[in-house]
Amino acid sequence: MNIREICKEAKRIGISGHVRPDGDCVGSCLGLYLYLQKLFPKKEIKVFLEKPADIFSCIKGYDEINILEDNMPEEAPFDVYFALDGRKDRLGRAEELFESAKIKVNIDHHISNAGGCGDHNYVEPDASSTSELVCDLVEEEMLDKDIATALYTGIVHDTGVFRHSCTSPKTLRTAAKLIGFDIDFPRLIEETFYEKTYVQNQIMGRALLESILIMDGKTIVSCIDKKTMDFYQVTSKDLEGIVSQIKLTKGTECAVFLYEIGTLEYKVSLRSTEKVDVAKVAEMFGGGGHVRAAGCTMNGTFHDVINNLSLHIEEQLEGTSA
Ligand code: AMP
Ligand code: MN
Ligand code: MN
Repeated sequence: MNIREICKEAKRIGISGHVRPDGDCVGSCLGLYLYLQKLFPKKEIKVFLEKPADIFSCIKGYDEINILEDNMPEEAPFDVYFALDGRKDRLGRAEELFESAKIKVNIDHHISNAGGCGDHNYVEPDASSTSELVCDLVEEEMLDKDIATALYTGIVHDTGVFRHSCTSPKTLRTAAKLIGFDIDFPRLIEETFYEKTYVQNQIMGRALLESILIMDGKTIVSCIDKKTMDFYQVTSKDLEGIVSQIKLTKGTECAVFLYEIGTLEYKVSLRSTEKVDVAKVAEMFGGGGHVRAAGCTMNGTFHDVINNLSLHIEEQLEGTSA
């Protein structure tokens, strides 16, 4: 894929990532935004995202993001529109901007997005992150400290600081190239990945305290309801990292974390070590993701959701799935 060629004739270019944007989503969108601005200073280039967490404000361009919750864009069609880090149906309100664009481009690394949804697609399920893929597409001579900071943040977040199995030799070579731009990576990792506010730690504590082991200790489950979120005055952004933390419980193959997003409606996060393909499980319920990390939205009571998920997890743990 050649971004320079694709955008050559365009006057207006749009960029969006998935709903509830994570580090990779924000990093890849802003990395691409900064690159395009540098490449085409005269073109109109806009990023539309749901409001990302404040921790990402250290990335250049953060303040220029058009927040989808605030102003639904009454935009005329874009000439080129980029959907990053997901399928078009995960763009939320930006999906219609993508749909109406003259040229659609999809850059992603989700296994559940086989083939891609654009006129031009760069979808590599083996890549650690969309930020790594964006870095492949940026010419060496165009990289700079700001672009490197954005893309490095994305890679750090999707690899869990280079410890998940999606980290490849190429991922590390890419990261090595990026830290060569003298970015303050210890601080970036500390402040965007590990650091938690007091209430974030408190609610993580609640999730750990109330977690339960099922399937002979092979699966760990925890849930935060709306009432608890209101009590601690937290939003979904404050729950990032909880599923990885409960997954650290010795002996577990699979971790399931739910939080309530509406009446009888839950956002589900799934993580696995080795035996369970959680992308497959999430896909059963209209979601998707990666083999070791996936998500979906499910309806019903907490018990309904756990029962429905357990069926598929257990099937894989017992090796009885097709
Ligand atoms: P999460 O549990 O939300 O951190 O998501 C884990 C991984 O699965 C991330 O790569 C997400 O982008 C992906 N994912 C989460 N929810 C969905 C969904 N509904 N459809 C497709 N992919 C998802
Ligand atoms: Mn993502
Ligand atoms: Mn990603």
